[in-house]
Amino acid sequence: MAEPMKILIVGAGIGGLTTASALARIGAHVDVIDVKPDNSVAGVGFGLRINGLRALREIGLLEKFLELGHPAPGIDNYDADGNFLSNMSYGTQDEGLPGCVTMARVAFLEMAAQHALDLGCTIRMSTTVTELTQDDSTVSATFSTGDRGEYDLVLGFDGINSQIRHDHFGQKYAPRPVGGVAWRAALPNRRKLMQPIICQGYGGKIMLTPLSEDTMYMVLTVAEDGRPRYDTAQMAEIMHDRAGALTRGSEFLADALEDVRHSENVAYTPYSTVWVPYPWFRGRVMIMGDAAHAMTPYLGSGAAMSIEDGVVLAQELAKDQSLVDAQLNVMKRRLPRVRAVHDRSIESMLEEFDSVTPETYRDRVEYLRRDEPIANEYANRLLRMPY
Ligand SMILES: Cc1cc2nc3c(=O)[nH]c(=O)nc-3n(C[C@H](O)[C@H](O)[C@H](O)COP(=O)(O)OP(=O)(O)OC[C@H]3O[C@@H](n4cnc5c(N)ncnc54)[C@H](O)[C@@H]3O)c2cc1C
Repeated sequence: MAEPMKILIVGAGIGGLTTASALARIGAHVDVIDVKPDNSVAGVGFGLRINGLRALREIGLLEKFLELGHPAPGIDNYDADGNFLSNMSYGTQDEGLPGCVTMARVAFLEMAAQHALDLGCTIRMSTTVTELTQDDSTVSATFSTGDRGEYDLVLGFDGINSQIRHDHFGQKYAPRPVGGVAWRAALPNRRKLMQPIICQGYGGKIMLTPLSEDTMYMVLTVAEDGRPRYDTAQMAEIMHDRAGALTRGSEFLADALEDVRHSENVAYTPYSTVWVPYPWFRGRVMIMGDAAHAMTPYLGSGAAMSIEDGVVLAQELAKDQSLVDAQLNVMKRRLPRVRAVHDRSIESMLEEFDSVTPETYRDRVEYLRRDEPIANEYANRLLRMPY
């Protein structure tokens, strides 16, 4: 682009904040807004694999992430009784990068926000857009605070329930439940786990992921229909009972399950996915990240895909081409890759849930012992492909 662009990013989540930095690094003036008052976020931690790490390197955030994060070279799989089944490596030390690094979500948002501010972006919390109108040369935004702004491009990075998607792409792309839910809780890392472990249960799994020597988080995933409303005072007890049902009274994770009872911050997330087909833009309004392609976390890559989106957009906007050519090239580069990861994330979830009866549970355990490491290597190679 010849002139520095003025870009509004709606949503200061993982994708919005990292994209702000990617765009500031090519000289754009970037304003970020978020409807939330602060960086609080559901869920405790998350991990970035090689693709996410590579994208962070591109925006100058890798070193800090490696310094604050916790390296996780792979996952050990166990059955419900604690018998070791297999190791799923996160991949080789490609490009000198660890296979995966985990971090507390709030810490990541704080780090990414500071990086964007250091690069000259503005961030306003407790703010959303009430109206966006566009013509051939500009988008006019009216903010909930009453003021207005003129932009060359507006990016909806406002997550799975995106208002921008709803207003500019239509209700038909609303999130679709995929039949699974996640229960998440922060726990003490009593076992001094150095890398994540998965315990395959009957009809779901329990995953423990260390964030440091002292802290870890549990994600319990299980098939669950509907969207029941749970009493927040009962969440820890319900999560504990769900976990107990998966392991059918086994002693294997009994200590962690007991800790769940005392967890003060249990997050319950029904899994839904979003797929907005080509193109992810309507004129100068574009959606990216979960707003365009929310997936299940089964490849641990929704956040990484959001970061990649912003990096690829910045690469294309930096070229000597029109905005629409840049947008078309972003679509050409993103659509097949994100679709492959999106689809695989759903398939992996359904495979895991197919383990409710003693027979299907035995099949699943055998699969994890024999075949999962190879299926996992496919995921590694998919994620390692250049974006
Ligand atoms: C259980 C679970 C585990 C996961 N684990 C991983 C993992 O290990 N690795 C990984 O890569 N991914 C993981 N993910 C996926 C990852 O969390 C998402 O893909 C990622 O957060 C998407 O980033 P985003 O910026 O697009 O959206 P979000 O992170 O959801 O951010 C959206 C932002 O927009 C703001 N917003 C919403 N509406 C408005 C509005 N109207 N106006 C202004 N602001 C608004 C919100 O407040 C929020 O700050 C996991 C997801 C789940 C559910």
